[in-house]
Formats: sequence, C-alpha cells, structure tokens
Amino acid sequence: MFKKVLIANRGEIACRVIRACRELGIKTIAIHSEVDRESMHVKFADQSICVGNASASESYLNIPNIIAAAEISGADAIHPGYGFLAENTYFAEVCEACRLHFIGPSKESIKQMGDKITAIKLMKKSGIPVIPGSDGPVNVDDPKIFDTAKKIGYPVIIKATAGGGGKGMRIVASKESLKSSIIMAQTEAKAAFENPDIYMEKYIEEPHHIEFQILGDKYGKTTYLPERDCSIQRRHQKLIEESPSPLISDTLRKKMGKVARNAAAAVKYVTVGTVEFLVDKKDYFYFIEMNTRIQVEHPVTEMVTGIDLVKEQIKLAAGEKLSIVSEKNNILGHAIECRINAEDPNKDFIPSPGTIGKLFLPGGPGIRLDTHVYSGYTIPPFYDSLIAKIIALGKDRDEAIARMSRALREVEIEGIKNTSSLHSKIMANEKFRKGSVSTNFLPKYILGR
Ligand code: ADP
Repeated sequence: MFKKVLIANRGEIACRVIRACRELGIKTIAIHSEVDRESMHVKFADQSICVGNASASESYLNIPNIIAAAEISGADAIHPGYGFLAENTYFAEVCEACRLHFIGPSKESIKQMGDKITAIKLMKKSGIPVIPGSDGPVNVDDPKIFDTAKKIGYPVIIKATAGGGGKGMRIVASKESLKSSIIMAQTEAKAAFENPDIYMEKYIEEPHHIEFQILGDKYGKTTYLPERDCSIQRRHQKLIEESPSPLISDTLRKKMGKVARNAAAAVKYVTVGTVEFLVDKKDYFYFIEMNTRIQVEHPVTEMVTGIDLVKEQIKLAAGEKLSIVSEKNNILGHAIECRINAEDPNKDFIPSPGTIGKLFLPGGPGIRLDTHVYSGYTIPPFYDSLIAKIIALGKDRDEAIARMSRALREVEIEGIKNTSSLHSKIMANEKFRKGSVSTNFLPKYILGR
C-alpha cells in the first residue's frame, strides 16, 4: 500500500480523497494555489504545499510544480481527483516517468477514452452499441457533410472529440444551420480543449442518461455496480443523480451492466471508471463516453452499495485484487445527490463567489454531506462553483425524495447565492416524483425554456 499520497486537486473531492487515505492509514499532502491557503483540504491534509498563483493553469494544472511538490514531500502516489489533470495522458506519463503511482487507469486507457472519436470506434469494434454517426471527424469544408447528416437523419448533434462538461455541442435541426453549427462547435472546442476536432451523431430525443460504475484490477478482472441515472441536466451538465434509475428494469440493468463491463475489459481498465449511455424511448441504449476517473456523483453508488469507491480506487491502483462481485450487490435502498453550486438560479446561474457568513448544512437520518466550505470561507472566483453535495439515502425512492426535500429546507448559506431552492423545486415536481424525466426535463419543466 502507498505510504504518502499527494492530492492534485482542491475542493470537496480533495477532502473526500484525504478521508479515504486517512482510513487506509496513508499520509496526505495537499497542494493549493495562492488563494486556497484557507481551504478545507489544506487544513485536512497532513502536509500542504503551495504550487502557484490563483489561475488553474499556474497551480492545479501546473505539472512541473505538482511533480516537484510530490518529490519534495516524498509522496509515492498522486491522486488526481476529477477535473484538472485527472484525464490528462501526459500527466499520467510524467508521473510514471518520475516513479510516482498515478491513482487511475493506465495512460493507454486514458488516451483511448479521452478522445471520443477513438473511443467510439474502439467500442463499436468491441460490439458495444454506439449512436449512429459520422464514424470519424467532420470538416466544414467537406461537401460530404450534408450527405453524412442526411444519412444519420436530422436532428443531429455536433460534438467535440475532446469534449467534457457539456462544452462544444450543437444540436442541428436541418441542413440550413449545419455549416454554421459546425463552425460554432469547432470554435468552442478549440477554445475549451485546444482541439477543434468534432464529429456528428444522431440527436436522440428525450433520452435518459444512464451510467455504470465499473472497477478493474491489474490482473484483468472487471466488474460493474448498479447504475446511476443522471438525466437532470442543465446545458448537458449533471445537476442531480440517483441510483438505481427509476426507469430501468432488472433485465435492462443486467444487460447494460454487462455491456459496461465489456467496455471496461476492452481497454483493460484498472481502478474505477464510468461507462455512460443514453437510453431512448424504446429502451435501446448507446455508449456515449467513458470517464477514466472518480466522478462527482460517485457517492450515490457508495450509498446504495455500501462500498467506499475511493478506497477501492486506491487499493486497486496499489495492485490489490478486485474483491467486489457485481451479482452479489444487494442494493441498500435509493440514493439521490443534489449538487449545490454557488450560483444564482434566478439570474441565469451567474456564479456567486464571495465570503460565506452564517452557515448551516443539513444532516440527520440518511443524509450525507460532501463539502469543503465553512462559515467565514471565501469562495474564489477562479474555479468551479460546486460548494456541496447533499446525498440522501432512503429505503425507497419516495423516502429518498422526502429526506432530500427536508435536507434542502435546512440549508442556510449567507453571503452568497446558491442553487438549493432550484433543487427544492425539482424535488416537489410531480413529473420528477413519478420518475419519468429525460435530459430535457430541467429546461422544459423547471426553467420554462
Ligand atoms: P460531455 O463529455 O461534455 O459530458 P457527453 O457525451 O457525456 O458529453 O454528453 C453529455 C450530455 O449531452 C448527455 O448526458 C446528453 O444529455 C447530451 N447528449 C450527448 N450526446 C447526445 C445525443 N447524441 N443525443 C442527445 N443528447 C446527447
């Protein structure tokens, strides 16, 4: 087992990783930017090192400084969390070259899955269902784009091969807007990912986003856990996740789980990862991407399975054998996670950084809270706006919703705006309560667009 782990991240996920390390008896080193000195993850860790200025490119993305911090502190492994360098092949390569264990899959898996065009091709070859599409990059100057789109059938969606966080996507209803949408998607992709390559696929109307947590060890064994339904999204980004899905039958769960496991096996996946699918109205399911890291929404799976995924991730990275068998997983109930962001839900979700005054965060039966904020903490404007994850576990979905609704009413955060009122609205919505929501639920039924 590792002795000292450096956590190359900040916020709630850095705190989450430190907790796992501590339970495993591993020493922790936090890194932080100039503005994050007072951050909870810095206070939590055994040791902390400042790696640069506020801007992420100078600190949490600053590979030379992070590696230097690991070497100076005598770390033997690096946990990348999610975001920042978590899915950066080059970073995994540098870690390896510097004899630091990267707590994640192999650099080959990250590379194959990090480029969506490559990932989709590989999955198709492995017999995993994929969405009908362009089977490769499309170029705005190529006159064949019109034939390709016609063959797929409108509406189509343009997506960035390096995509993430819902960026670089454009839905195209007809040929008139195809060219301009491609140009816009390319511009957005270049700005966000420094890679303008895009591809085209069929736009699935009113799909459900269903994903499977997978785990793999270094000896070729892979398994899957019960699905997460992440259909409540804003601008293709998840806001609420739950497990199990209210819409998936046991038969479909098993079928999709096995496909997810095959997808993981196809890239010889080690540690924890997620295989994402869209499910259409007829229950046909299609692979969309694989995330090669721990995800924001991992706690819902932890709540319904009782498995500590971060500890499993660390153990698998250290070379332990996989001991979890998917078929033996009894689901402990129903879990829902609400992502509370420092944003104003009444002003188009404009970020709301600033100093937190009075603070009360919920607890009580069935409630888990993953956060890094405290009273007097100043949320910097430089990073993402997630400030807390509230996770509710109930014996069934109704109890999980009741617990989440009650927990949301307890939230008191003075000094900044937050999105808890939006979550309360969703919990009270009849359609949501019935469990029949697709990815367009939030804009259509809550935001009224
Ligand atoms: P990202 O990596 O940016 O998160 P994904 O490929 O995971 O992008 O897709 C994010 C979300 O975008 C999906 O959950 C879904 O809501 C929407 N989406 C992506 N592809 C399609 C598609 N072909 N049809 C309909 N919606 C899609």
